Amino acid sequence: MKIAIVGGGSRCLFFINILATYRFSSEVQPQIVAIADIDPDAPGVKHLVERGVYYTDDYSEFLTREDLDVVLDLTGDEEIFTYLCKERNLLTTVLNDETGLIFFEGYRPRECAGSRQLNFKRTKQLCDLFFTELVNEEVFVIDTSFTIIDVNNLPLQKYGLERKDVIGKHCYEVTHRVKEPCSSKAHPCPMVEIQKSRQPYRCTHIHYDKEGHRILHSISAYPIFEANKIVGIVELARDITWETSLQKSFGDQEKLSAIGRLAAGVAHELNNPLTTVLTSTMLIQEDMDPKHPDYEELDLVKNETLRCRNIVNNLLNFARQSKPIKQDADLNEIVQSSMALIRKQADFKNIVMKCDTCPEKLMVYCDRDQIQQCLINLGLNAIDATAPGGRITFSTALADDEKMARISVADTGEGLPLNIQDSIFEPFFTTKETGTGLGLSITHGFVKQHKGFIGLESTQGHGATFTIRLPLKREETHA
Ligand code: ADP
Repeated sequence: MKIAIVGGGSRCLFFINILATYRFSSEVQPQIVAIADIDPDAPGVKHLVERGVYYTDDYSEFLTREDLDVVLDLTGDEEIFTYLCKERNLLTTVLNDETGLIFFEGYRPRECAGSRQLNFKRTKQLCDLFFTELVNEEVFVIDTSFTIIDVNNLPLQKYGLERKDVIGKHCYEVTHRVKEPCSSKAHPCPMVEIQKSRQPYRCTHIHYDKEGHRILHSISAYPIFEANKIVGIVELARDITWETSLQKSFGDQEKLSAIGRLAAGVAHELNNPLTTVLTSTMLIQEDMDPKHPDYEELDLVKNETLRCRNIVNNLLNFARQSKPIKQDADLNEIVQSSMALIRKQADFKNIVMKCDTCPEKLMVYCDRDQIQQCLINLGLNAIDATAPGGRITFSTALADDEKMARISVADTGEGLPLNIQDSIFEPFFTTKETGTGLGLSITHGFVKQHKGFIGLESTQGHGATFTIRLPLKREETHA
């Protein structure tokens, strides 16, 4: 097998090492015959040139050579890899570092097969290098009994786990937090699918970290063969939570604006008859003796009409398509004034409200009323969710390299179950008997209008923290 390598850096040295240490069957015998790199002094180039391998600074030469079986692109540059894949001649296979390792693994001879554990051990040294140096994804090596044999450092760092928490445990316990294999039609497991098809498999899974937060992973899994039998898989998982939530929020924006237009129309139509009902009821009551048997009934009509008006006002607020009226404002002050407006409700329920604002001013170019409305919405929800004796803390801080201001509203209330956390920003979603389900969607809309973000962290039974991040004032925002 004649191989040409593109890129003579440390990845090249790594593959030279692999090809030298793996035992390949006699019909394969990989041989590096050419190396391309613009830098003739790159370590891999020097190493190969010393051994008489052909060197060029132009990798496109490899596309016209007909003697090459494999072009191994180790530049890590996606454009170069795509170009090579597109332009290659039909006899040549183009690989990059990830697919290369799996490709060569596939060519290991059958004689290597021994006990599964032994073979995993033998490849351990190479895997260690591969895992830690080359891959920016979470890597798990899993055997057919769903036991995790190896893992790279990325998921350990990310989820605050120790190797001993992971190695030897079942993958479903660690990533899905369940006690039994979790494959199903709606949730296909790469291990099960690969055993059926003997082919690599891709899917998207929701995993959970130690605190139970959802992480959306795009998974690519590859079989590991020993003596033509699948003995395990290598699973590469990429965290796509952020990308997906961005896409979802674009979708939500469209949905919100369509509902908003509809709501505005309906709300205007309803406001007038409601006002008529309300004033007529009050007029009748004025002429009536309060002891009259119908007086209380009319009270009910009045209160229910007021409740309807409240809903309509919320709808109008929600539907407000107008641009925010922005000015420079200190977020710390907005936090203080919002808290002052809801303090009475908190006192009434014997809930302590704490303010923990950062010492520096957090100047934001914003619509003061809208941001205040957001904080009031979060504060009132927190009061609803918190039992007497509980605590609500408003805090502010600089975030994201001092480019953003962060405001958090944390409560010690009932928290939110995972299965509703995705729905709470949707208009009309409510779990309260008298709720409108508009507070959070209005808040979400206002925050988006300020190019900010809103997020939630909550574990059921352990309170909730809503965090808003807003861009700090920059000169161009005045333009
Ligand atoms: P509403 O308050 O009218 O129900 P919202 O849009 O403000 O509408 O809230 C939607 C839902 O989100 C609430 O019904 C509740 O289930 C949940 N929620 C919001 N804030 C909290 C919180 N701090 N703690 C627990 N649940 C909350």
